[in-house]
Amino acid sequence: MTWEPVIGLEVHVQLATATKAFAPVPVAYGAPVNSLTDPTVLGMPGALPTFNRAALLAAVKLGLATRSQIRARSRFARKHYFYPDLPKGYQISQHDEPLCEHGAIDVWIAGARHTVALARIHLEEDAGKLNHEGPISRVDLNRAGVPLCEVVTEPVLRSADQAFAYMKALHRLVRALGVCEGDLEKGHLRCDANVSVRRVGDAAFGTRVELKNINSFRFVKAAIEHEIARQIRILEGGGKVERETRLWDGVAGISQSMRGKEEVADYRYLPDPDLPPLVVDDALLAEVRATLPELPADRLARLVAAGLAFDDADLLTSDAALADYLDAAVAAAPGSARTIAAWIVNELLRELGGRPIGDSPIAATALAELAAAIDDGTISGKLGKDVFAKMVATGDGARAIIEREGLRQITDPAAVRAMAEAIVAANPRQAEQYRAGKDSLLGFFVGQLMKASGGRVNPQLASDTMKALLAGA
Ligand code: ADP
Ligand code: MG
Repeated sequence: MTWEPVIGLEVHVQLATATKAFAPVPVAYGAPVNSLTDPTVLGMPGALPTFNRAALLAAVKLGLATRSQIRARSRFARKHYFYPDLPKGYQISQHDEPLCEHGAIDVWIAGARHTVALARIHLEEDAGKLNHEGPISRVDLNRAGVPLCEVVTEPVLRSADQAFAYMKALHRLVRALGVCEGDLEKGHLRCDANVSVRRVGDAAFGTRVELKNINSFRFVKAAIEHEIARQIRILEGGGKVERETRLWDGVAGISQSMRGKEEVADYRYLPDPDLPPLVVDDALLAEVRATLPELPADRLARLVAAGLAFDDADLLTSDAALADYLDAAVAAAPGSARTIAAWIVNELLRELGGRPIGDSPIAATALAELAAAIDDGTISGKLGKDVFAKMVATGDGARAIIEREGLRQITDPAAVRAMAEAIVAANPRQAEQYRAGKDSLLGFFVGQLMKASGGRVNPQLASDTMKALLAGA
């Protein structure tokens, strides 16, 4: 029996605004407990919300970048439930009139571009947080009212790997747009995964289970893989999958039932009477459209078309500042795009050891100079590493170092021949043995030549010249 997984993701993206969604209270991470509140955040009677325009601009930006249909008039709704971290007794969200619908996110998987269809993107506010300490739980409302966009896919993903790739693409997209800081450790992206399985060939979907609050990409993959296997095991054992919500425990690598179908929450949604309709007119759309950068998926496509290896292009578009550095270098040496990319990935990132590209000791134009010097044969790739190290140490340009240190490759055959003759003359015994059939001594002679030239002779030219000379040519 073969089974096909069906997955849809609901991701909460924390919008990078200075203040909360419905109150002029700062948003900050790590502030003293309950220091970021006001009567609105606390849900005091009579306190009225006013919507933060910065959150609207961010949501519209995300909507445009995902080619969504953006509602000219959308509505906020109250989603009622009782929990100690929700002082009002309801969360302000959007229900049947979300801001965005029918968008899509482009995802590169193993060198091919896929499109993941989105059902909706809506605005809502975050809840507070409970800190459990032994028998006591304390409420911290610093996070309450922080603006979120919930990005919901259609049930179009078919494997845990696709879900993982989608999460990575969404993470890149929101950071490139600047609408979210994308720090997973601070919970900026939180994922609920809906998973079902069906027999290959079946048209109808199976019963789905919702996995709540998965906060790392590694956990998204692990949680979905675990759930797929759990459902297949149940179905193959003749059982039925229950429609339920399960909580993923990333540390233990298991999920636990949180609530079943019978207890599906009744949120009693109703339009929020305190907030006017959210209006997005053409002027606002134009204002936001003007701020859209090149999207990461398009950037990756452009770099692959420019000749970069896929893995290099993928890595270099994982961060907009890194891709900007690459673009600046390529602009200075357009013929050397592939070499530049390889040197960033293999040498510069290692040199940076996890620090941001803004800390690079080598300017983009200087790296371009090095790549061009390698590509046009001025220096070998091997000497390039020495030049690179000197660039890091001194901050000087590649050409300046090459000239100063006399590292230019020796390409004149007559000069190489003269050096080779001197080495053969100085080693008559080895030359004798080579001619008598000890072929392995060629390596010795080539090594001597490389050493004598300070590594400046092209290794192939060194070998060819030596061989010809020893053969008596
Ligand atoms: P709800 O309103 O109950 O949250 P939605 O229709 O909004 O339900 O769907 C929530 C998520 O579940 C979406 O991402 C959707 O793609 C996904 N989904 C719906 N049906 C299935 C299914 N049978 N298997 C897997 N995912 C599903
Ligand atoms: Mg849901």
